[in-house]
Amino acid sequence: MSKSTRSDTNQSDDRTALVVGAGLVGTLCAAMLASRGWTVTLIEYRADPRLGTHAERARSINLALSPRGIEAIRSVSEELVERVLKEGIEMRGRMVHKKAKREGEPVEKDGQDYGNYDEGECIRSTSRTGLGIQLLDHLDGLPKQGRGSVTTLFETKLVEMDLRKEHGVDVVLQKKGREGEKRHFDFVVGGDGAYSQVRQQMMRGSRLRFDFRQYFAKHSYLELSIPAGPNETFLLEPNYLHIWPRGEFMLIALANLDKSFTLTLFAHDSTFSSIDAQLASSDSSNSNGSNPVVELFRKEFPDALEHMGEEALLRSWKENPKDGLITVECSPYHYQDKVLLIGDAAHGMVPFYGQGMNCGFEDVRVLSSMLDHFGASPSSLIPSPLPYSEVTPPLPVPMDPSSKEPLPAKTPLAQALAAYTTIRAPSLSAIQQLAQRNYTEMASSVLSPLYLLRRGLDSLLSSLSTLPPFAIPRDQDPTKDRGGRWESLYRMVTFRPGLAYEEVIRRSEWQQRVLRRAVQAIGGAVFAGVAVGAGLRYAGRYRLVKVA
Ligand SMILES: Cc1cc2nc3c(=O)[nH]c(=O)nc-3n(C[C@H](O)[C@H](O)[C@H](O)COP(=O)(O)OP(=O)(O)OC[C@H]3O[C@@H](n4cnc5c(N)ncnc54)[C@H](O)[C@@H]3O)c2cc1C
Repeated sequence: MSKSTRSDTNQSDDRTALVVGAGLVGTLCAAMLASRGWTVTLIEYRADPRLGTHAERARSINLALSPRGIEAIRSVSEELVERVLKEGIEMRGRMVHKKAKREGEPVEKDGQDYGNYDEGECIRSTSRTGLGIQLLDHLDGLPKQGRGSVTTLFETKLVEMDLRKEHGVDVVLQKKGREGEKRHFDFVVGGDGAYSQVRQQMMRGSRLRFDFRQYFAKHSYLELSIPAGPNETFLLEPNYLHIWPRGEFMLIALANLDKSFTLTLFAHDSTFSSIDAQLASSDSSNSNGSNPVVELFRKEFPDALEHMGEEALLRSWKENPKDGLITVECSPYHYQDKVLLIGDAAHGMVPFYGQGMNCGFEDVRVLSSMLDHFGASPSSLIPSPLPYSEVTPPLPVPMDPSSKEPLPAKTPLAQALAAYTTIRAPSLSAIQQLAQRNYTEMASSVLSPLYLLRRGLDSLLSSLSTLPPFAIPRDQDPTKDRGGRWESLYRMVTFRPGLAYEEVIRRSEWQQRVLRRAVQAIGGAVFAGVAVGAGLRYAGRYRLVKVA
């Protein structure tokens, strides 16, 4: 694979990029493109969150930031990552709240570390709005115009996109309350979320051969909260992600800097609607004065209810939305050298692995390495190695359909985007699968003795694998570190940004096979031992009888 230089591409130095959507991923992407010399315009449909005019109620108030996300922010700005880390609350593991055996009995809790906390393995509960503001503040520190600048336009949306031009993209942008305005950009990035308008524009017509699928999970979610305790104290342990696993439904809680907790109840739509129907019916407060929401919490989450208070619970139940969980799949993520989808616009997923944003941030890191590698930005940084190079499939070479000869890619940017789609597709499909599967682990497996045995074996083997005869060299750079010889699935997904998600699945499947064989071998040995023991006893008894 040859790296193209700018001289053979005939691209002018001043190149413009439009990033649609100033969500978390779009804003980080705008900063990354500016750092590579693009002249960036970032547009956002909503108002500037720093004006405090809109409440961020649509999605979780806080989210778990993990090393994949952190390393992606670091690849844009070391200073920014330091600021972001200061605002997060470390979560070393999950705190499982078991179901009380009988109503009124105390709830047992079990803290399960995610990895080696003493070595810094933790995730961080981070305010969604706070993180968004830190990213926007970072943009404010960049040049105001020309190369390396970002111009942010709030209350402005993309309404149309035309990809038919020989060079670049025509778009129509519309400021709130005004007529649409036609603009032209060299490159457009769609970071406009799961209901992306950029993606919808890419779906028009058959020329792009663009595939798309979306589907909703059976579960919806509702946000609740536990306030700070007396004298500004936390009412639950702050350094854990709290889970109340109850099978078909589940409650989780993450701490906030103001000492409150944000709780998310995940339940089937039918559970929410049947409770809502009961509330709506005239006898919702039935003869004994009970309320179905309070009843549910008394039975399933009594300790959470105690801290929340019945009144606050009922208010949140009534006022907060019960939102659906959407998965979005599409292919490819790009079109020529004109447009690319990132973040939820390309791969919305259920939140059960806490990776949606982290993975969106990783999109930005992977994209930056592609741009650098192919010299596709106005000021390329030193060409960086491709991420996950040991497992990266061969990058695509566009072919001429008639001669079957390789076609020279039109521009370095076209090469970079094609390589991005090739590298990212298996990773994104892998994390979407993992996110789906993790509901079962969070909502029921964490209580099962078999799961706890497997966890124990995992951590034993993980410790053994660090001993001198088995240990493998580790890289100091987290984006290249492939972890130890044996690591749990969660640890690889969450703490090893140097491993592509599909590589994580491959390694985990190999470990599962080894564990299964080990269990079979141990089972076989135990069985043989029991059989030999019984045989000896029988033989002994027979001898005794004979002697007698
Ligand atoms: C309950 C829940 C909990 C979660 N917890 C976690 C977690 O712990 N960890 C984690 O990593 N992820 C988590 N996620 C996932 C995470 O929230 C998303 O993956 C992430 O926010 C996606 O960011 P984004 O920037 O791609 O999209 P969005 O945040 O959706 O941003 C898109 C932006 O584009 C704007 N926009 C849309 N259309 C237009 C247009 N036409 N013109 C201009 N602007 C437009 C929107 O207003 C929005 O601001 C969770 C999700 C949910 C639902």
